[in-house]
Formats: sequence, structure tokens, C-alpha cells
Amino acid sequence: MPLTGLPIIDQPEHVEGPVERALDALWRLKRPHFYTLRNVPTMLRLRRRFSLTLLSLDKLKVAVPRGQVPDCDNCVDLCCTGPDAVVSLRLRDIAVLMDLGRAAHIAWDRPATTTMKGVARREADDSVFHRAFPILLRDATGTCSLLTEDRLCGIFPSWPLSCARYPYALDLRNGVIFYAKGCRTTRLADPSEAPLHVRRLVRAVVDAYNARVRDVVLLAMAKDELRALGLLAHVKLDELGL
Ligand code: SF4
Ligand code: SF4
Repeated sequence: MPLTGLPIIDQPEHVEGPVERALDALWRLKRPHFYTLRNVPTMLRLRRRFSLTLLSLDKLKVAVPRGQVPDCDNCVDLCCTGPDAVVSLRLRDIAVLMDLGRAAHIAWDRPATTTMKGVARREADDSVFHRAFPILLRDATGTCSLLTEDRLCGIFPSWPLSCARYPYALDLRNGVIFYAKGCRTTRLADPSEAPLHVRRLVRAVVDAYNARVRDVVLLAMAKDELRALGLLAHVKLDELGL
């Protein structure tokens, strides 16, 4: 959902605020202690329910059509609105919204209707993450509450991780990054520009997935710290069984 209205290669950088910085610091502090003897029982228990392996770029195959990039400026089928425009938030996204003073955009009412079918639909319905983590607030028309009247992202470049990676998506089982079918307005990028798009979006896919792993570990091992940051108030811990 990169509705930036800006040429992608010139996009500005996101600047971290205090809650996000504290979350990152907490991860740096806790990560080296995952596999210390004291934490082995916790990690084994977590591993039975969640994948805790962090993704790395070199393990993934990128299977996107060569040169194909989203043409957001001319999009006729905006992905920030509609039954599938549901943005799941990670702790990092919640931290960013708090830093931006936009925590009022955190919501829980996932729409009952979606055009997703088959495996994708079943996985979504069964996902503990969907039950445990909030989404971005949508208005009565199913449009993201952060979309501006000019059809731009109101918090770009500090948008949620899943917006940053779209339309790239991850097939975890096969280790493949693919171009989501939902994004139909595409263009062929200039050969000098295309690799930059690919690098940025692939990096965003990896970041989005790894944020999920990080959340599980921190929610299991650093509840007090997350509570002190105000982040725990936005997660249904019992749904994760933590
Ligand atoms: S559907 Fe694709 S082209 Fe349209 S706004 Fe979303 S990412 Fe951009
Ligand atoms: S935060 Fe909302 S407006 Fe911004 S890209 Fe995501 S869905 Fe679109």
C-alpha cells in the first residue's frame, strides 16, 4: 500500500520516536539471552507453537515479474480501502502510532467479509495473531482511517510494516517472495530503478516477518517492560497463550 505520491527511490526515511526506540533497545537487550540455560524451557514451549526462526534475505527466492512495480499514482483499485484492506499491527507499529500521537487509530473490529478464499482465508481465520493483535482503524466504508483526502498515506514513511512491504508477500513454506495478486495497477520500472524497488520491498517483507517473531519472544520474556512502555495494553496476550 505504498501510497506515497512520491517517486519511490527518493522516499524519505522513517525517524524513530521514543517508544519505538525503547522497543528496539529491549530487543537488543533480550535477544542474546534467548538460549541461555534459564530460558530454554520458555523457548522450547514457544517453539512448539510458533516459528521463532528469523528470516534472512539469502534464504529467500524472489519470484516477482521482472521490472514490475506498483503504479500507486494511477491506481484504480486502491488497497487502502475495501474488504481486504485490513492492516494487522505489530508491536513496532503500535509503538510508532503511539510516538506519532495516533494511538486512537488502533482498533479491533476485523471485518467479517473478505474476498480471501481457500487456504489464505482459512489461515487468516485460524491465526492466533489475528486474534491477539489489533488492526488499523477503518471507517464505515472500509477505508483505512489514515488515508488522506488526497488518497495518500497520512503517516508515510512511518506506515505499518505490512503496508511497507505491499504488494510483495511471503510464501513462508516455500521460502518465496511473490507479487500479490491484489495489486493490479502495475508499471514496468526503468531498469536503473527496478532493483531499488525490489531491494526495498524484499527488505520490508523480511522486516515484517521478523517483527512477528520478535513480538512473540518479547511478549513471552519481557512482559513487565512492555507493560511499562504502554504496549501490552494493545495486545490480547491470552489469545497467544503467553
Ligand atoms: S493496489 Fe498496488 S498500485 Fe494500487 S495503491 Fe496498492 S500497492 Fe499501489
Ligand atoms: S497506513 Fe493506511 S493509508 Fe497508509 S498505506 Fe497503510 S492502509 Fe494505506
